[in-house]
Amino acid sequence: MSQFAETKPHVVLTPYPAQGHINPLFKLAKLLHLRGFHITFVHTQYTYKRLLQSRGSNALYGLPDFRFETIPDGLFSMDDDDADVSPEITHLCDSIRKNFLQPFRDLLARLNQSATDGHNPPVTCLVSDCFLTFPIQAAQELGVPILLFCPTSAATFLTVMHFPALVDKGIIPLKDESYLTNGYLDNKADCIPGLQNFRLKDLLGYIRITDPEDLVFDFILEVANRVQRAFPIAFSTFDELECNALNVLSSMFPSLYTIGPLTLLLNQSPHDHLEHLGSNLWKEDQECLEWLESKEPRSVVYVNFGSTTVISPEQLLEFTWGLANSKKPFLWIIRPDLVIGGSVIFLSEFVNETKDRGLIASWCPQEQVLNHPSIGGFLTHCGWNSTIESVCAGVPVLCWPFFADQLMNCRYICNEWGIGVEIDINVKREEVEKLVNELMVGEKGKKMRQKIMEFKKKAEEDTKPGGSSYINLETVIKAYVMNVL
Ligand code: UDP
Repeated sequence: MSQFAETKPHVVLTPYPAQGHINPLFKLAKLLHLRGFHITFVHTQYTYKRLLQSRGSNALYGLPDFRFETIPDGLFSMDDDDADVSPEITHLCDSIRKNFLQPFRDLLARLNQSATDGHNPPVTCLVSDCFLTFPIQAAQELGVPILLFCPTSAATFLTVMHFPALVDKGIIPLKDESYLTNGYLDNKADCIPGLQNFRLKDLLGYIRITDPEDLVFDFILEVANRVQRAFPIAFSTFDELECNALNVLSSMFPSLYTIGPLTLLLNQSPHDHLEHLGSNLWKEDQECLEWLESKEPRSVVYVNFGSTTVISPEQLLEFTWGLANSKKPFLWIIRPDLVIGGSVIFLSEFVNETKDRGLIASWCPQEQVLNHPSIGGFLTHCGWNSTIESVCAGVPVLCWPFFADQLMNCRYICNEWGIGVEIDINVKREEVEKLVNELMVGEKGKKMRQKIMEFKKKAEEDTKPGGSSYINLETVIKAYVMNVL
């Protein structure tokens, strides 16, 4: 008799291989594990190598029913010394389309083969990032159900689903480069129902493409064309945050479930035995939490531009002096690859000026930082996870969006929800100084804090037993994952 009861459901989860996609799907994997599922979480060899480097090899072993598997990404191998360099998004998107299906098929076959030997239960369901299409094909071939999971906002997914229509109407790709600057992007995005208050420039950064053969553009079109309305789909959001977009999507997808914020759902159940299983690809600096202990409540500005945004040395300098001149304490996360061209050397005037009130680290446990009582505001690039995490922590934001869905999230934050203000893309130190002060001690900051606390409360209600996200997760588990047994 195998150590696994034959009836234990076995879920194989596949994230798009980037930090902002891995983290929320990993939380869902933990939630499913807590409800009795056998988990296989699939990394690329590249992301797995990064995990090993950041967390140490022991951190990824230890549970017989929470396993990691890898497939090659067609760009880096496990032994590749270059694997510290993040794959460029265009190459990654192209490689996913060309290279991921066969190794994934082989993996599923291997898992089912080892099920016959009693090493694990047979695969009963796939849960895939909705931006990947190869698991859809693999699920159909294997005859198992698939649940799609959207790690971005519902509005972003709605935009993606409208890509073919935008192409048909001649709205995208842009006719030429002049359309980036001639005011065209200021037009309303009223061609997408549910997004009436958005402009074309607020939609996905990928609509700023002029080349119809662009590989990322193709990748998104393929997602839009392959995702069928009949698939069940779960969103990392909650009802009150995005009612308009969700209403439209519900009429397109009969089986749509909001299951966010996942962190709050996870906090409902004790999961200490899973604590050592993390998903950050960079090593977390724990000392910044100790440093925060020495600071006054709500006094520190937390600055973090996520895992993919890059900034120029000139922009770095403007932020540097904006923060220094604001006179506010700050914790600034500068990834080794944040600044274009590499090394970051701070002027000695800046170091002297801020040594008692500024801390710079290369990566941190962001959710713990955001929930620390000393944090009063968040200067963010507006990644969707960062946005949701600041809502959960009740910390108002300054937005400096860079690309992809960050522009859309910024529009939500500033115009729809009133929980943040935007810094101009051509960042200037005077503006940083002024807005940091407004955020931390100004009237506007106070109002934004009140507003974000209201959203935090709604998120908490939705994730408690009886709340919409809580019920949705239970429904998804019963309907699409449990029933397959
Ligand atoms: N993150 C972290 N520590 C850092 C920076 C980021 O733990 O120093 C986590 C953050 O909590 C979030 C994810 O990395 O879960 C970043 O995702 P997001 O969607 O905000 O931005 P992206 O990196 O995809 O641009």
